[in-house]
Amino acid sequence: MSSIRTGVFWHDIFKGQDWPIIGDKFMHFPEVLAEVLDYENVQLFESKPVSDELLLKVHTPYLVESFKQAWYYEGGSRTIGGMVEAMEKICEGKLTNALNFMVAVGHHAGRASAWGGTYASLTGPVIYNAREKYGIKKFAILDTDSHHADGTREIFFGDHDVLHVCFCSSNVIEDNGTKICVDAGYHTSDENYLNLVRKEFIPRIKEFKPYVIIHLLGHDTAEGDYGSRGLSKEFFLDLVRLVNKHAKEICEGRYLITSMGGDRVDLADYIFPNVVKILSGR
Ligand SMILES: [Zn+2]
Ligand SMILES: [Zn+2]
Repeated sequence: MSSIRTGVFWHDIFKGQDWPIIGDKFMHFPEVLAEVLDYENVQLFESKPVSDELLLKVHTPYLVESFKQAWYYEGGSRTIGGMVEAMEKICEGKLTNALNFMVAVGHHAGRASAWGGTYASLTGPVIYNAREKYGIKKFAILDTDSHHADGTREIFFGDHDVLHVCFCSSNVIEDNGTKICVDAGYHTSDENYLNLVRKEFIPRIKEFKPYVIIHLLGHDTAEGDYGSRGLSKEFFLDLVRLVNKHAKEICEGRYLITSMGGDRVDLADYIFPNVVKILSGR
């Protein structure tokens, strides 16, 4: 297990601002990561901006222009840039897994329109770049934010080499069985949700055999957060342990996590350092 290398992609611009929907939930970062960043197999990277060229592979020129003029552009751009670099390092074998921090971009951004606190796509540029640069074909996206990932779904619809499993509020199987939504239940329990992941995600990745698992790890599903489904803070760690275990079996441990929705500072402080512990093999 000592061969595991874990990357953490962060930039100080992510703290101290009232980001759309999630607010200043990273106000205690990167300080709360101090212990895990000391591990010899964990490395901190400063998230760099994404290029316009890459954004334009996924989005219309109008969307890119609007994004660039918004106050949250630099934070959003560095979120995507960090995630792109994390995936590059995984493809190059320099990292086994990684945690990326997100503001202002994510799963509600389609090609031409975006809403809900996420004003450009995160997975779109990451997957486009990994294919162009490294010829990687198959990706699995697990979305456990509380809300339906409409933007991600639109961008990858018709692309049968992207398995997209979205835990939201309806049961859907479409696009030759590569695009799935699972009704997580309005008020559920940790165990029921984990069982749904065991039933609806794990067997599908075993069959699909992705090169890497990309996980949009929202915690808005937590009790008391804005998209609550009644989950405890321990749930998020159990979920990451479960997916990480199967990533080791299916795709040599390649597992890229990004934060997503949720605005509770105490949850962010608790979940993300522990996620790094799990990823790094503690
Ligand atoms: Zn959400
Ligand atoms: Zn969905």
